[in-house]
Amino acid sequence: MKKAILFSGLLTVTISVYAEQGSHWGYSGDVGPKNWAALSADNFACSGKNQSPINLTGFIEAELDPIKFDYTPGAHEIINNGHTIQLNYQKGSSIEVDGQTFNLLQVHFHAPSENHINGQSYPLEAHFVHANGDGDLAVVAVMYQQGIPNQGLKIELDKTQGKTIRATASPNKTLKQIWSVMPTEIGGKYELTEMINLAAILPKNKDHYRFSGSLTTPPCSEGVRWLVMKDVVTVSRKQIEDFSSVLHEPNNRPLQVINSRLVLE
Ligand SMILES: [Zn+2]
Repeated sequence: MKKAILFSGLLTVTISVYAEQGSHWGYSGDVGPKNWAALSADNFACSGKNQSPINLTGFIEAELDPIKFDYTPGAHEIINNGHTIQLNYQKGSSIEVDGQTFNLLQVHFHAPSENHINGQSYPLEAHFVHANGDGDLAVVAVMYQQGIPNQGLKIELDKTQGKTIRATASPNKTLKQIWSVMPTEIGGKYELTEMINLAAILPKNKDHYRFSGSLTTPPCSEGVRWLVMKDVVTVSRKQIEDFSSVLHEPNNRPLQVINSRLVLE
């Protein structure tokens, strides 16, 4: 496994990452979410009226067209930017929404989840970030929950035939592949020898909720199409713990006020 260690001191690395991102921000203390808008003039949108994440509730029935997924094995690089673990995509994977093509740029993770569904938080959420030709963004969000512990639990399916199945929390295979090369130090970057198709960490059923929101990190730009998958994907407890231990602190922005927005389903 190849890791890029650019500087010897953690502080130096941290500064280099912040410099890359334009402003110094984090998830706690003086640079935490409450102060994002004040940290830089570029972050004015962080105090806007259409911010993410939200608690998705009070759904409005709508005829939402299915999202057309066209994903290929295109994740070629994994980075630890100090805020999340992110897989960068090469061109060639996209979704079709509103009759427009949005190219998949990158996929990253938050623990615990940023969005809530009907008041429920999940231990892990992935964001699939896409952009169309005009630079408009569409984010597909997927929730992950911990499976049932794989010890000592049996569910009896059919007593007459004496059949039982064991409910297990086997790790998600693709997530296992990703986590095995997760750079543990800030600024770490790893070029994947074999590109990954992240369609494997989407739920099979692509029914979704939809609302208009923003980036959940500075500069919090609005006008983002949020497409939140209704079905939740099961992962193992260790997979959730492994991610959290690399990030050292929760990387979820608190819930934002929904204001006049509608959540469609
Ligand atoms: Zn995100």
